Amino acid sequence: MAELEGLEFGKSDFVLLDEVNMEQFMENLKLRFEKARIYTFIGEVVVSVNPYKQMDIYGKEAIDAYRGRELYENPPHLYAVADAAYKAMKRRAKDTCIVISGESGAGKTEASKYIMQYIAAITNPSQRAEVESVKNVLLKSNCVLEAFGNAKTNRNDNSSRFGKYMDINFNFNGDPTGGHINNYLLEKVRLLRGGSEEMLGSLHLQKDPVNYVYTREGAASTFYNTRIMNCVSATPQGNLQFETDSESVQVVGSEAVSHIAGLTTTEPDNVTKSLLYRTVATGGGEVIEKGHTEKEACFGRDAFAKALYERLFCWIVARINAVIEVKDYNPVLHGKNTVIGVLDIYGFEIFDNNSFEQFCINYCNEKLQQLFIELILRQEQDEYQREGITWRHIDYFNNQIIVDLVEQPHKGIISVLDEACLTVGKVTDTICLESMDAKLGQHPHYTSRKLTPSDKTMEFHRDFRIRHYAGDVTYSVEGFLDKNKDPLFQDFKRLMYNSSNPVLKEMWPDGQLSITEVTKRPLTAATLFKNSIVALVDKLGCKEPYYVRCIKPNEMKSPVLFDDARCQHQVAYLGLLENVRVRRAGFAYRQPYARFLQRYKMTCEYTWPNHLMETDREAVEAIVTQHGFQDDVAYGHTKLFVRTPRSLFTLEQERAAL
Ligand code: ATP
Ligand code: MG
Repeated sequence: MAELEGLEFGKSDFVLLDEVNMEQFMENLKLRFEKARIYTFIGEVVVSVNPYKQMDIYGKEAIDAYRGRELYENPPHLYAVADAAYKAMKRRAKDTCIVISGESGAGKTEASKYIMQYIAAITNPSQRAEVESVKNVLLKSNCVLEAFGNAKTNRNDNSSRFGKYMDINFNFNGDPTGGHINNYLLEKVRLLRGGSEEMLGSLHLQKDPVNYVYTREGAASTFYNTRIMNCVSATPQGNLQFETDSESVQVVGSEAVSHIAGLTTTEPDNVTKSLLYRTVATGGGEVIEKGHTEKEACFGRDAFAKALYERLFCWIVARINAVIEVKDYNPVLHGKNTVIGVLDIYGFEIFDNNSFEQFCINYCNEKLQQLFIELILRQEQDEYQREGITWRHIDYFNNQIIVDLVEQPHKGIISVLDEACLTVGKVTDTICLESMDAKLGQHPHYTSRKLTPSDKTMEFHRDFRIRHYAGDVTYSVEGFLDKNKDPLFQDFKRLMYNSSNPVLKEMWPDGQLSITEVTKRPLTAATLFKNSIVALVDKLGCKEPYYVRCIKPNEMKSPVLFDDARCQHQVAYLGLLENVRVRRAGFAYRQPYARFLQRYKMTCEYTWPNHLMETDREAVEAIVTQHGFQDDVAYGHTKLFVRTPRSLFTLEQERAAL
C-alpha cells in the first residue's frame, strides 16, 4: 500500500502535491527515484523513471498483488495500469489501449514487455494449449522484431528504430486469441551484427560494422538466424562505389555487383544496369534509358539499400501478423472480441540538429497529445454529464493549432513540402523553405528564421522553428526534400520483382508495373507517415486510453544519477504538469456505490456490522461523512466521484488496520 510506506518515499501520486508547480513535481520525482520508487501515478497515468538496474518488482508475487485490484490499492506500477486496462476490457467489454511514450532510452520497450508479460501471466488460468500458443507467439514476436528493428545508438544500446503498435485480441473469457502489429518505420539504415563468422562469410559480410559505410555512425544489434538474411546482407553494399570515366559512369570493380546479384538471385548485368541507368517515359510515350550521373547513381544505390531493408522489415511484420491473426472468430459463438492495444512509440525529440525525422516524430507526438487532450477531457465531460455532476471548465493548451500548422491540406508544412517535391525543375531545400516562410510566416507557432536579423551568426537561411506544445524546435531544412521524395527508381523495383527468389519477389509487387504505368507520382514520405499516424490516432481514438510516461534520468545510463535539468525538460515536454492540473480539476477516482460500500463498509458504524441505511448511496454518504472528506467528493447517479486519492488512501489504511 503506497501510503503505508510513508512519506520518506515521496508522494505516490503527483495529484497529492501541496501545490502543482515544477519545483514540487521535480522534488517528488527525484526523491522517489533516489528511494528506488521508479513509478508514480498521476491519477491513472504512470510516470516511470528508468532505473538502469534490475529491479526486484516484476516477479510472481508482484503480479499476484496487482491482479484484479483497484489502482490505488497498491503502490504505483506498470502492472496497476495493465490491470486497469485489462479489467476495463474484461468487465466492461471496452477496447482499451496503453500508450507508452518518452524519449529514446527512457524505458518504453522494457515497459511494454513487462505489460505484455503481466497480461500473459494473468490470462488463461486453465492453461488451454491453444491460448498458450497464442501468448507464446505474441511474446516471442518481440525478439524477432527487435532483432531486425533495433540498433545500438549513442542514446540507447538497444534502441527501437521503429514505432510499434500491437493489438491483442481477447475472447469473452478474457483470454488472448491473437493480435496484430503495425509498425511505423522511420530509420531504415541499420545493419545487423552478431552472426557467426561462417554465416557472415557466406553472405559477404564482415563482422565489424565499421567496414560498412551505412553503419559507421551506429552499430547494430542481435542477429536473427534465418535464410532471408540474404536480403539483409545485400543491404550494406554502400561500399559499392562509382567512377566516371571520359564517357559514362561505371561501377568500381565487379565483385560488389556479383555479390548483390548472388544474394538477391538476380543477373549481375541487370544489377549493373539498375545501378547505372533509369528507364523513363518521354512525353511522346516513348521509353528510353537514361544514364545516371555519379551523384544520381550514389543516390539510387543508397535508396535501394534502404528500401531493401524496409521491405524486409515490413515483410517480417506481415509474416508475424499472418501467424497471430485471429482466425475463425465467430462473434455469435464466441461473444464480443475485445482488444488491448499497446503503443511503443518514439517520444518528442529535440536535438542540436533536428531534421526531417525529428519533424515527423514531433508531429506524431503533437497528434498523440491532441488525442490525449481530447480523450481525457471528453471522457471526463461525458461521464460527468451522464452522472449529473457539474463540470468545471479546465484551462489547458489545445495544440490543435500546431497539428494544423503541420498537416492542413494546401496550407500546412507537409503540403508545402509535397508541392516542392512535385515541382519539376530545380527546387532546392532553400527554395522550399522560402515558400514555407511565405505561406506560414504569420502563423503564431512558426518562426521564419530569416525574419530574425538580430541573429548575426546566421549566414544562410536554412532553418525554421516550430513552437511545439513541448517546446521550441529548430529544424534544419537540409535534406528535407530528398527525404520526402520516394527516391527509389522503378528500375530497382523491377530488378527485385524479377528475382528468382520467391520471397524477394513477394516483397516487390510494384516491380511488375511498367514505366508507363508508374507515371503517377508516388506519395511522399511525409504524406505516407501522416496517413499512418492519422490511422493510428483513429484506432486509438475509439479505445479507452491508459498512459505510461517514461523519463530517462541521465545520459550515462547510470542507476544513481538524477540529472535535474534533463529530467525537468522531459517533464515539461511530456506535459506532465498539465496532466496533474487536469486531474486535480476533475475527479481522479470513481466507483459504483455498491462496490465502494462493499470495500469500505467495515470502516463505519452505520454500515457495519449492519447496513442501516436505505440505499447504497446513503450508506456511502455515511462513510464519507464519518471520515470527514465530504468536500473531496461528488455524488453521481450511480457512482461516487473522489477528487484526490488522499481520501481513498485514508480508507485503505483504516481497512488494513482493522
Ligand atoms: P528507444 O526509443 O531508443 O527504443 P526505449 O524507450 O524503448 O528507447 P528501452 O530500450 O526500453 O528504451 O530501455 C533502455 C534500457 O534501459 C534498457 O535496455 C535497460 O537496460 C534499461 N531499462 C529500461 N527500463 C528498465 C527497467 N524497468 N528496469 C531495468 N532496466 C531498465
Ligand atoms: Mg524502444
